[in-house]
Amino acid sequence: MDRVSVERVYNFGSGPAAIPVEVLEKAKGELTNWHNAAGMSVMEMSHRGAEFTKIAADAERDLRTLLAIPGNYKVLFLQGGASMHFAAVPMNLLRGMKKADYVNTGEWSKKAIAEAKKFCEVNVVASSEDKNFTYAPKQSTWKLSADAAYVHYCSNETIGGVEFQWTPETGKVPLVSDMSSHILSRPVEVSKYGCIYAGAQKNIGPAGLVVVIVREDLIGNVLPGTPTVLDYKKMAEADSMINTPPTFAVYLAGLTFQWLLERGGLAAVEKVNVRKAKLLYDYIDSQDFYSNPIAKEDRSRMNVPFRLRDEKLDAKFLEQAEARGLSQLKGHRSVGGMRASIYNALPYEGVEALVGYMQEFARANG
Ligand SMILES: *Cc1c(COP(=O)(O)O)cnc(C)c1O
Repeated sequence: MDRVSVERVYNFGSGPAAIPVEVLEKAKGELTNWHNAAGMSVMEMSHRGAEFTKIAADAERDLRTLLAIPGNYKVLFLQGGASMHFAAVPMNLLRGMKKADYVNTGEWSKKAIAEAKKFCEVNVVASSEDKNFTYAPKQSTWKLSADAAYVHYCSNETIGGVEFQWTPETGKVPLVSDMSSHILSRPVEVSKYGCIYAGAQKNIGPAGLVVVIVREDLIGNVLPGTPTVLDYKKMAEADSMINTPPTFAVYLAGLTFQWLLERGGLAAVEKVNVRKAKLLYDYIDSQDFYSNPIAKEDRSRMNVPFRLRDEKLDAKFLEQAEARGLSQLKGHRSVGGMRASIYNALPYEGVEALVGYMQEFARANG
């Protein structure tokens, strides 16, 4: 293969998304010979060997530290994407009950709801569809059912750019959240949840891994027909290794957890994320060439969709952005416009570069 050297861009992709360069460099350094002892890469190791067992155990330990996960919660490293867990959640958490409550705040909520309907009666307790999914419905408007097995919501809608800045209260009914696109961006009070799940390719690492954090008393009563590898209890008992786990993805996730710990943990990381989001939203709100439609108090710190006043300029905006090393700013096909995903791995300087470019582009084309 030819040796190529390419400057790294600021990657605003929504997922698969940017991974910290320090993590990639570390992995590169030990790619062919992990820790200079194994004589092979992590990809080539047995998942049941001592080396990989330690890699997975360290990753779990560090994730537990980062999120302060209580001892009565299991941490699972699974597969199938968050989409698979749209099905696995009802399979595991209905526990003989017939109904689940869902909040509908956008594209990912809708997908979770559609999947759950295959397994149970779904009660949509609140929805922001009336305003085109531009806000998070207040808790006071939720019509919770008394007999629901759990309450599901998507705490950060990646496509719409809506984030819950508060944790819902659901009493005795377990709260379940799809945190795919903002897990590890801020501290979370895990004990308020029955189950948290997140695909890795937004804010954790490469695609192929799904992290599930589940309270242990909720598992062990799956729907008949549930595949063994989707049975949270069986997977917990087998340290997520009934079958071969996505070993390289677990390893890179582990390196990302170390990277976050080195930066002071999630409270420190959150401060940077707040500054990044403020810089971008303050600029968007300060002029009328660009706009963001989301209610201010519900705006996502991770995914910032925005539109140009004249959409005929979209292609030019994207082309000139790419030429400056500002990559993957195109909005989701369902909403159009632009979207800047500013996950943990996207540094403050990347947002400064984006805002600088947006100002210049507005001046030249406004
Ligand atoms: C990306 C995403 C998903 C889907 O993840 P897959 O790994 O593609 O299944 C689900 N929910 C949210 C909030 C996401 O951002």
